Amino acid sequence: MQYYSTNNKDLKSDLKNAVINGLAADKGLFMPESIPVLAPDFWEALPNMSLGEIGFETLKHFFCPEIEEEDFKQLTTEAFNFPTPLVKVDEQVSALELFHGPTLAFKDIGARFLARVMARFTKDYGQDINVLVATSGDTGSAVANGFLNVDGVNVFVLYPKGLVSDVQEKQFTTLGNNITAIEADGTFDDCQRLVKTAFMDDELKEKITLTSANSINLARFLPQMVYYFSAYAQAVKQGKNEIVICVPSGNFGNLTAGLIAHKMGLPIKRFVAATNLNAIVPEYLRNGIYEPKPSIATPANAMDVGDPSNFVRIQELFTHRLDAITKLIEGISVGNEAIFKTIKTTYETNNYVLDPHGAIGRHALSSLLQEGESGIFLATAHPAKFPETVEKIIGKKVEQPARLKAFLNGVKQVESSSKHYEDLVKVLLKQAL
Ligand SMILES: *Cc1c(COP(=O)(O)O)cnc(C)c1O
Repeated sequence: MQYYSTNNKDLKSDLKNAVINGLAADKGLFMPESIPVLAPDFWEALPNMSLGEIGFETLKHFFCPEIEEEDFKQLTTEAFNFPTPLVKVDEQVSALELFHGPTLAFKDIGARFLARVMARFTKDYGQDINVLVATSGDTGSAVANGFLNVDGVNVFVLYPKGLVSDVQEKQFTTLGNNITAIEADGTFDDCQRLVKTAFMDDELKEKITLTSANSINLARFLPQMVYYFSAYAQAVKQGKNEIVICVPSGNFGNLTAGLIAHKMGLPIKRFVAATNLNAIVPEYLRNGIYEPKPSIATPANAMDVGDPSNFVRIQELFTHRLDAITKLIEGISVGNEAIFKTIKTTYETNNYVLDPHGAIGRHALSSLLQEGESGIFLATAHPAKFPETVEKIIGKKVEQPARLKAFLNGVKQVESSSKHYEDLVKVLLKQAL
């Protein structure tokens, strides 16, 4: 499979190049040149497949034979090694719990897969690689843990100082080894800008091999399609039809993966793109104008994005036709009060504890679901990652999974940078391989 740049359909790259470089040479995002429709025997087998098997059968079209099939089978088994259960919240709405991985957020799926693909490619690349990733909270921990102790790969996690939760911060600042956390005096948008500047800095790239683990990397966002298939299989077993999937969105990598699954034949009636107060995409869906803005801090901080980098991929999937996009995707922006209220009522009425991101999904569905439809929202993070918010609202402690406790006991180690690019470069050059 070849991958083209969203800036120029004729600029193509092979898989290895696309994964190692993250961005195309003209700074566009990579897209697969074709999206296969899955054969009937896949759908017959789906109800009895594990997540690893779903991963192999759906992703092999994009990653094989560049990665040998036998090897790829092992890779998908290792990467997708935790459950993604569909849990009933009320009669019409279920949560697809994506937080049973090592860092308790859905980003473990993409990060574990990406780390393993990159490790395969660096082995024959013959050069050490530096992964630079900006995080609004959960990417950093998922990527850092996915890459921890992978030979030949050095990871830099850049995050906005004071703007991630304590739990999130502990999950990527306590690891040491090949992981360096850098706190920047700025917002997440500043961090994204710094990372983009680094990727365009030819002088820096002459000194070190630099790559991205953000969802601009196709090997990060594509694997996320596996749990859409899993959600569908579980929903059908539970007797649901007319399935609507709601995706709490920030950079829109997650929704993009769902739309690709849909193109491969997944029978989802429609998607709901739910954002927090950063309503860039819902506004675009309403008036056709895409207007990036500085991000606003909200309790669902992993979605505080003012210029979603994957949105261009969604436009590309629909050949930039707004009418086609709005036919399948409905947008909604959910305010902070609605997040708090949803956490409270869902706990009191349904005895289900939501995190702030999942609460956005749940709230969006209760506003937009029609009669006869079955709603699934992606529960993207475990509520124990946000105790400050959740415990105050439900009035009791959220139980911490053991793997979270282990992080909380670690010692924080960080490098610091201002929001000026030259400062970041100094830190990178000091630590790079
Ligand atoms: C990253 C993240 C999101 C947003 O996902 P995108 O792919 O960036 O749209 C939502 N919820 C949580 C908990 C996240 O970590």
